[in-house]
Amino acid sequence: MKKLSIEERLGFNKFNVDDDEAHITINKEICRTCTEKPCLYACPALLYNLNEAGEMTFDYAGCLECGTCRVVCQKQGAIQWNYPRGIFGVQFRYG
Ligand code: SF4
Ligand code: SF4
Repeated sequence: MKKLSIEERLGFNKFNVDDDEAHITINKEICRTCTEKPCLYACPALLYNLNEAGEMTFDYAGCLECGTCRVVCQKQGAIQWNYPRGIFGVQFRYG
């Protein structure tokens, strides 16, 4: 049996995105004061990014609910983190 890469395994996941309520939000004002921005490198789904103006952007739609961002972020209040409501969120299809 072929060994799958992490990217291939993640490709099996299905997301039921809650369009009405983000389960994670960021405070861009606080992020502006963060010099190292570890979330950029720690999020396995690469959901934290910088736009052309150098502002932090975040898209909760592909979140794996791993909690890594809330662990690596050292700025209190920068991330509001909750699990998605009821039927929403990621469904892992391959381990
Ligand atoms: S680590 Fe926290 S404060 Fe720093 S950019 Fe990321 S979310 Fe913002
Ligand atoms: S919980 Fe995990 S996948 Fe979701 S945004 Fe945070 S680091 Fe990324």
